[in-house]
Amino acid sequence: MSTRIPFTITPAELVQRQGWRLTRQQPRSWICLRRCPFCDGGRHGDEGTFIIHRTDGNYSCSRATCGKRGTFWGLLLHCELDPRDFIDRTQAAPQERRSGRPYGRQQRQSAYVYR
Ligand SMILES: [Zn+2]
Repeated sequence: MSTRIPFTITPAELVQRQGWRLTRQQPRSWICLRRCPFCDGGRHGDEGTFIIHRTDGNYSCSRATCGKRGTFWGLLLHCELDPRDFIDRTQAAPQERRSGRPYGRQQRQSAYVYR
């Protein structure tokens, strides 16, 4: 059982904020970017290799030499944003507030969900 971190920014809003361009064809559940923000398409300028899930923000680049993938949390970090600034504190789980333990980078595996 896990609870989703209530972010105040959606994956689509992040894409807009970063000015990332999209491919013409958009899959239903994913946002497909023209260029991967990590590898920028590599030497050949490959396009459409980077997808972000519309709901949970998990991302993945399908270029073999890049292969970056991770959570929305990690994507915010890559954008030099502090994910903690985008947590809706009013919806934080009571035990999370009580512990006072910040969501940390060491929680990488479960950066987006906590138990
Ligand atoms: Zn890439």
